[in-house]
Amino acid sequence: MIPLVLPATSEARRPFVCRVRDNLEDVSDEADALVIDSDPAEYFLSGRDGAFAVGRGDTTSLAGDVLLVDPDGGRAERIFRHGSRHNTLLVTERCDQLCVMCSQPPKKTHVDRFTYFEEACLLSAPDSLIGISGGEPTLYKQELFRLIERTAEFRPDVGFHILSNGQHFTADDIDRLRQPVYGNVIWGIPLYAATPSLHDEIVGKTEAHARLLDSFASLMRAGARVELRTVLLSTNVASLPQLAQFITRHLGFIECWSIMQLENIGFAKNRWSNLYVDHRRHFEEIATAIDAAQMRHIPVRLFNFPRCTVPAHYRDLAPASISDWKRKYAPACGGCTEREACAGFFEWHPDVDLVGVTPL
Ligand code: SF4
Repeated sequence: MIPLVLPATSEARRPFVCRVRDNLEDVSDEADALVIDSDPAEYFLSGRDGAFAVGRGDTTSLAGDVLLVDPDGGRAERIFRHGSRHNTLLVTERCDQLCVMCSQPPKKTHVDRFTYFEEACLLSAPDSLIGISGGEPTLYKQELFRLIERTAEFRPDVGFHILSNGQHFTADDIDRLRQPVYGNVIWGIPLYAATPSLHDEIVGKTEAHARLLDSFASLMRAGARVELRTVLLSTNVASLPQLAQFITRHLGFIECWSIMQLENIGFAKNRWSNLYVDHRRHFEEIATAIDAAQMRHIPVRLFNFPRCTVPAHYRDLAPASISDWKRKYAPACGGCTEREACAGFFEWHPDVDLVGVTPL
């Protein structure tokens, strides 16, 4: 796996954000830190917050990375990795749902790092699309809105893709979300079933379906950009065609519908045998749902589906969706002509599924 946290030593008195430069000519901001030396174990840097050292891990260069260095914790978090399309800010670990398959089970405590994240966004690479996730980011809705708006003020080229459970949008947000800066924001919001009781059961919260529909009404009136997300589960796969009908009837404003394969981590790890649907054997319901959505011009994507496991007719809907730092391939993938376009597997996916991989 690509390391996202590296050991670091610094005599600074507080955590600080910096952007790594390895060439003096590239230094353009007071928050830039220059690599002045390195050895096989560490990079040595100098910047606004003094001299500091960062462990190399198995990196070949940190140039262009934006780091949050925590002197007391002895660590540097690679908030943005230069050249990666998968940079995500984890803004909170709190959540007000308890989804049965949650990949990042929530915690009760919150550490507010919005100030650091705002600094980092201003240092991000040109035209970045920055992911924001949690926990539930909109539990800190005002801080989140401020982060988006302040970034847009100085960096209108930066966009955001924000994962939210959609429980906290109200009519009071409509005017704010109508501002042009929110044209750069896509909200990734899950809906697991058309039937309220099934959706509520999956997310572990009563009335969640009803609240979600109220949020969608506000988002629609605000002209917000929404990517609808549905994780494939043994409990909802049979009702996927019904969900597709519901979406075409009531949620036609969404930009796209992402059907997502399950991730073997968090709560799903111990519930895998109960929740996982092998789509290679059960593609019929998925195909019916896709056809229904596409007939009404709603784009569909298949996330976390290795391309060779998807019937040829639907294969182009399956992009390389798994973040580079947590993606792996089967030994047989080496000879595959579609590897560049393929999601592969999560690093933690059971190896047993890798055996049957057939290169394209
Ligand atoms: S063989 Fe590997 S790289 Fe090719 S489509 Fe299958 S999983 Fe993807």
